[in-house]
Amino acid sequence: MRIGNIGGRLSVVSGERAWDVEASSGGLFSSDPQAVYSRWAEFSEWASGNLLSQPPSFSRDRLGPPAPRPAQVFAVGLNYRDHAAESGLAVPASPTVFTKFVSAIGPPAGDIILPSGDVDWEVELVVVMGRRARNVPASAAWGYVAGLTVGQDLSERRMQLAGAAPQFSLAKSFPGFAPIGPWLVTPDELDSVDDIEIGCSVNGEPMQKGRTRDLIFPVSDLIAYLSAVLTLLPGDVIFTGTPAGVGQGRSPQRFLAASDELISYAAGIGEMRHRFTGPEP
Ligand code: ZN
Repeated sequence: MRIGNIGGRLSVVSGERAWDVEASSGGLFSSDPQAVYSRWAEFSEWASGNLLSQPPSFSRDRLGPPAPRPAQVFAVGLNYRDHAAESGLAVPASPTVFTKFVSAIGPPAGDIILPSGDVDWEVELVVVMGRRARNVPASAAWGYVAGLTVGQDLSERRMQLAGAAPQFSLAKSFPGFAPIGPWLVTPDELDSVDDIEIGCSVNGEPMQKGRTRDLIFPVSDLIAYLSAVLTLLPGDVIFTGTPAGVGQGRSPQRFLAASDELISYAAGIGEMRHRFTGPEP
């Protein structure tokens, strides 16, 4: 199943068509895409048996983030060996966790304003939680996942790396710096949830290409690690880390400029397209 946010309304996507959930359910489920995650099991069961007639088509430019207001957003740094190497940093012994503040969440297409500085791309597989999770063992972790989507962990590198203690969270939270989409895909739709190709290109030139089988801490380990410390809530978002090929790690370094187009994808899930404008005066 594919869950979309179409014009701010919870939808079930099928190809180029989509059901509006509130209308199709006679009001059983709210139109709010974020609200569904707290009733995920009930919703999944309803959606599997109650969406029969052919729905209307929709326009992709109306897609919003499939989890627009998560209570918590987690991101994991240095979770691929090749990215740790290009960053000149050691492979971590435990997950390196920071947040992207929730106001940075953005839609899977459209314009993003560049702040001043060096703005870099990081394509990532993103997990959305479908159940409250506390002390969940890795072996059970996938049962707590609603689905997967594509994310960009956009980062302003000068702020991120300046100062005595790096400012990961702030430098990765400018408006629109956490776009996710184009929709949420449930794990059962994917051939192998632990081996998904992800990548991105700038103006058609490939920049990153990796596979999630190379994650140092795979999705199940991240859920186990986080839920041993805190409570993961339905609708929470986890950016799982980026493979090699970021602008900071290239020689010469390369950063996003006004009018650049960034296309980010995960095989079997979908793609996002963003254009950059600015910088802000
Ligand atoms: Zn990242």
